[in-house]
Amino acid sequence: MAVEKNYGNSELENKLRDRYYYTSDSSKDFSDEVRKISGTISHMCYQCGTCTGSCPSAPRSSYRIRVFMRRAVLGLEDEALMDPDLWLCTTCYSCTDRCPRDIAPTDVIMAMRNLAFRKDIGPRNFLKTVQLIYSSGHGVPNNDVNRAAREKLGLPRDPPTTHSYPEFMPGIRKIIDHYGLKEQADKLLSEE
Ligand code: SF4
Ligand code: SF4
Repeated sequence: MAVEKNYGNSELENKLRDRYYYTSDSSKDFSDEVRKISGTISHMCYQCGTCTGSCPSAPRSSYRIRVFMRRAVLGLEDEALMDPDLWLCTTCYSCTDRCPRDIAPTDVIMAMRNLAFRKDIGPRNFLKTVQLIYSSGHGVPNNDVNRAAREKLGLPRDPPTTHSYPEFMPGIRKIIDHYGLKEQADKLLSEE
């Protein structure tokens, strides 16, 4: 917990409270790890907010990439990894295109997701997606309603993906198995 001191000046105390909070809760290791995994200069963020202003998720959710950039700089590991908004980035890379400091905020988010997954933190829909890709090659597999619609449009009932070429499924499973994703997704979902 943050240590609070009484300076007899409530305005100053409020300002300093943040500093104590960051000092007691921040982890330099977390900042370093995010920087290392992301391969970007996250510590150079000066909080201009261009990333959030470019982000298609921001107007539709409470997700703010700039907040995560601040957490990366200050090493606020728990705040970053426990926040469900971590999983709302679509990885569109608009923020990375526009950051005036040439930082890749997208890769910062990906690094944090990796660190979260190592701690068995992952949202249910992501875990289910891993299972679906493992079983079908698709995050959203084809179904009979879509097949009928495709037929009406004069398209083959299945697209030219693993649905039509299941012989490529072992390759997909091999990649997922290499990272132990399916095993971990199964484990986390079974613990729910
Ligand atoms: S655009 Fe770049 S410098 Fe500005 S807040 Fe986002 S990450 Fe930081
Ligand atoms: S990559 Fe993620 S954080 Fe960046 S603009 Fe796209 S959705 Fe937002």
